[in-house]
Amino acid sequence: MDEKQKTPGELRREALFHQPKNGWDRLSQAEEGELNAYCEDYKHYLDAAKTEREAVTEAVRLAQAKGFKPFTRGMAIQPGDKLYRVNRGKAVMLAVVGNKSLSEGVNIGAAHIDSPRLDLKPTPLYEENEMAFFKTHYYGGIRKYQWVAIPLELHGVLALKDGSTVQVAIGNNPGDPVFTVDDLLPHLGAEQSKKPLGEAIPAETLNVLVGSRPFKDDEGSDRVKLAILDLLNQKYGIVEADFISAELEVVPNFKASDLGFDRSFIGAYGHDDRVCGYACLAALLDLGTPERTAVCMLADKEEIGSTGVSGMKSAAFDTFMSDLCDAQRVQLKVCYEHSFCLSADVTAAYDPNFADVYEKRNSAYINYGMGLCKYTGSRGKSGASDASAELVGYVRRVLDEAGVAWQMAELGKVDAGGGGTVACYMAERDIDTLDAGVPVLSMHAPFETVSKLDCYMTYRGMKAIYEAK
Ligand code: MN
Ligand code: MN
Repeated sequence: MDEKQKTPGELRREALFHQPKNGWDRLSQAEEGELNAYCEDYKHYLDAAKTEREAVTEAVRLAQAKGFKPFTRGMAIQPGDKLYRVNRGKAVMLAVVGNKSLSEGVNIGAAHIDSPRLDLKPTPLYEENEMAFFKTHYYGGIRKYQWVAIPLELHGVLALKDGSTVQVAIGNNPGDPVFTVDDLLPHLGAEQSKKPLGEAIPAETLNVLVGSRPFKDDEGSDRVKLAILDLLNQKYGIVEADFISAELEVVPNFKASDLGFDRSFIGAYGHDDRVCGYACLAALLDLGTPERTAVCMLADKEEIGSTGVSGMKSAAFDTFMSDLCDAQRVQLKVCYEHSFCLSADVTAAYDPNFADVYEKRNSAYINYGMGLCKYTGSRGKSGASDASAELVGYVRRVLDEAGVAWQMAELGKVDAGGGGTVACYMAERDIDTLDAGVPVLSMHAPFETVSKLDCYMTYRGMKAIYEAK
């Protein structure tokens, strides 16, 4: 319809209403090709990165292939330099040095690469009725009933007394065995079925089944446990005490897969928050020399409060930034007060199957692009960073100018619950910070779902943020 045929009401509606569009309706053929290629790369990243350590290793591998070099204290830096620093194997910071001085601030993309899972306890291995199990202690906000009767993998590291380490990754290679936590059969589940969802599976029953074959020609106790240890000793050179100094993580045995007849979704373990972590990383790796220095922070421990030496609260980030600033004789605080951070973390996608916990006028929708959250938090915004109006205005402008599909969202109904991200820890450093990320269905489940369009738009949004002047 041409302009002349529109009624005054239609024209005013167009001018005044905020009417977001489904992202697929605005995508060009060229963008669609780029979207598909991006999502293939993302799926490969996910399959290679099932733990925070593997996410770091894979990020470094990709960065090195694009010419990134380790940044050491005292190193001179030039515009266009591509640098990275790994924090204890579990977090990584990367930077592309811009044309402007660091005194004018940096553009940061910060995401986390740890995901909910089952960690092994320090004394995990035991035998009961001639079956061997690992005791676990869950990490992050899991719904325990989702972790039973699914195939699981074991990934991680053991530190031996001689100072060497042993890497373990069992389950993700073809031909590998898998593990599982067994569940009750419905025939005997009458009492369990009456329990509230959160109580039906106690944490101390999340025991991973690891074997049943007894040690041959032996009369002693714990013959199955002995046979398992014998196997592990032959393969890895470890003894039972080595579990004490280990970080072994039980994660789902799911490959990242296209989901739906139209392949419009990706189903996988660990979208929260590797989907944003990968967007931050891939956008940084694709940069030329930006005006402002671009920094990508992939943090550990977000799922348990951003604590510890590898979490976002750790000074490791400040040390990296201050080492960069020292190279230009800039004060860190001056850099920080002019910096911008996009705290890139997933948000809840509106799910029509659970409509009662969402507020439909303020939810993130599948295929409507990157979801911006002015604030997160619980109840009365408790724990939120709450970005300023001016900052949200700035991000709107940057994303619109770059043609990025984005939407404004809250997590769900105010009284339904809440959540947090690394945003408040960046903001506490005197860095202007806004939350944004990919909307997710089944967040924190062993198999989470995201839309390819939203993944791609988050990558595009991150690139626009890094390139902002
Ligand atoms: Mn997250
Ligand atoms: Mn989370």
